[in-house]
Amino acid sequence: MVDKSIEKTNFNKYFVAFKETLSKNDFIKFKSLNNCNDWVKWIKNASLGGQFPNKTTYGKDRDEAIDLKDKGNLEFLKGNKNEALNFYNDSLLLYPIDGDKKEHSIIRANRSAVLYELNEYELALNDIEKALEIGYPTDLQYKILDRKAKCLLALKKHQKAIKAFRETITALDNAKISLERRQKWQKDIQIMLAVMAKNNVKDEILPTKSNVSKIKGKRNAVYTSASNLVDIKYNENAGRYAEASAEIPCGEILLCEKAYCAVLLNENVKTHCFQCFKRIIAGEPCPTCSCVKFCSDKCKTTALTSHHHYECPVLETLWSSGISVTCLMSLRIISQNSIDFFLTIQNKLKETDGMWNEKEYNSSNFLTIYQLVRHEKRRSVNDLMQRAYMALFLLSCLKQAGYFSTIVEEQAKEEAEILIGGLIMRFLQILQFNAHEISELEIKGADLKEWKSIFLGGGLYPTLALFNHSCEPAIVRYFHGTDIVARAVKRIKAGEMIAENYGPIFTVKPRKERQIQLSQQYWFECSCIPCTNNWPMLDYMDPNTLRFHCDTINCNNVLIVESDNMNIQIPCRVCRKQTNIMKGLKALQDSESLFRLGESLMLSGEIEKALAKFLELYELLVNNLVPPFRDYYLCQQRLRSCFLALGNTSISIEKLKKIINN
Ligand SMILES: [Zn+2]
Ligand SMILES: [Zn+2]
Ligand SMILES: [Zn+2]
Ligand SMILES: [Zn+2]
Repeated sequence: MVDKSIEKTNFNKYFVAFKETLSKNDFIKFKSLNNCNDWVKWIKNASLGGQFPNKTTYGKDRDEAIDLKDKGNLEFLKGNKNEALNFYNDSLLLYPIDGDKKEHSIIRANRSAVLYELNEYELALNDIEKALEIGYPTDLQYKILDRKAKCLLALKKHQKAIKAFRETITALDNAKISLERRQKWQKDIQIMLAVMAKNNVKDEILPTKSNVSKIKGKRNAVYTSASNLVDIKYNENAGRYAEASAEIPCGEILLCEKAYCAVLLNENVKTHCFQCFKRIIAGEPCPTCSCVKFCSDKCKTTALTSHHHYECPVLETLWSSGISVTCLMSLRIISQNSIDFFLTIQNKLKETDGMWNEKEYNSSNFLTIYQLVRHEKRRSVNDLMQRAYMALFLLSCLKQAGYFSTIVEEQAKEEAEILIGGLIMRFLQILQFNAHEISELEIKGADLKEWKSIFLGGGLYPTLALFNHSCEPAIVRYFHGTDIVARAVKRIKAGEMIAENYGPIFTVKPRKERQIQLSQQYWFECSCIPCTNNWPMLDYMDPNTLRFHCDTINCNNVLIVESDNMNIQIPCRVCRKQTNIMKGLKALQDSESLFRLGESLMLSGEIEKALAKFLELYELLVNNLVPPFRDYYLCQQRLRSCFLALGNTSISIEKLKKIINN
């Protein structure tokens, strides 16, 4: 992930101001220290606690909430369902949790009405249940119970629907409507129930969306998030890296991993779940702030019982300070655990520093991420000082949020703060090299060029973090929520490195730019095959030449054939034998139509069928020709789009199909 260095963020002005207060001796002193705890401790004393931004997190606002609800009602009357939903969503986010029960429940009930109209039955049911729980007025309950029954009917949950219709009949007794209207309504329901009884309707179980991204076959015994086709190796130069334990076919799922931590960018908090990054249609608000929402009660509870409990009061401070997402991730690694957890494991951390657990590599274990590479010895004084100062700021946020409130004794509190500050500084280093971007595929209409990957936030995936880079990656990453999936986008030979890509891809970026980017952020000189052999970018690959294998066994020469060439027998300059390219040319005849078929399947939302076509095309190409060549990478690009479309998308594939078919 592209990590903005602290110097390039708005936060830098605080650091610059601090640095101006230091003398030459101070720098010498700082340089003489050699571990994160000491650096943070020194910075803490030198800066007298630090001068940091401080803002109050936006809370609830009853009047504004009511105003938004009224606006929602207006839009609803005009038939503008999506606008109405947006107003109700904002209204609910702002309404105080301990506000007037009737007022509060009406917002929920109104939102359920628009959700019902938008065919979002599950979400409508959730709002109806919540409205009833909060205290929806008895004389109005018939309305939402009737809606509840209709939602259940639409979901083919007939037994529950019958029950809800019966409740509606009872509730109508309390309705403040004319006797005539009440009786007519009750009668209509009775008729409906009679029809349902006569037809003996049974509940239907609607198919739930299956998650297509699962590792087939066995998993690696130690690195359990990876397939056993993945071997993790080590050598002095490359560090840890992934290698194919057997030949891997293109399309194979090689890794499914949960994020150790995942932080949503603040520009996405209105549209995505703060916990799992799913798109939100009708969210569950945080009970205290008006900044974040969740896709479900489950995500809300998970967030509140771990990190959000601490982050909620300091969210605005964190966001307005202009720090990068990797800094927020360093904080999250702390805030999602309790101070007691860190106090309990602190001795173990000291004992195991720099050591790997060879038997078990557990992605959810703190000890695993604690050992990830950080190149501390190669850092400059300025780099370390920046990170120590950032750690101090994040530490001050935790203090303000009451993270250390269980510790009473002053000395113990001071020690705990240094322990945590030191850990934050360590993760600020680790995340520079190990964080990943979490994304979503934005699907805009029928032009595949408009399908773009959008940056949602940052995540830490401890197993994927071990994969090394190549400018020609062997895998594509995509996401289900914050879970990552890595899939082979080429055929990988046994013993070959399984390369991932840290940002620059050779087909679209010149070698010089790739090399600069990689050495600036990741501190290595790329010596991948495209860099070493100076492969041309996609736009410079000649579409009029074909690269055939020489038929002679063990002659790895490539035969370059112009497309207007009339000869079938091609001589090899290396082994001096002839290769007949007739069979190859014949096989490639279908490639163009396969490509177009795949594209049209994609655009009609048949992603898995499209994927099958592009995989077929890939095999055809790679069996006959030798990369690098244009069609090979065009095929890979489409494979990538298919993979991404199976993960997070801005609109669901079902909706895409509906849009296309209308
Ligand atoms: Zn969620
Ligand atoms: Zn909150
Ligand atoms: Zn390279
Ligand atoms: Zn040859």
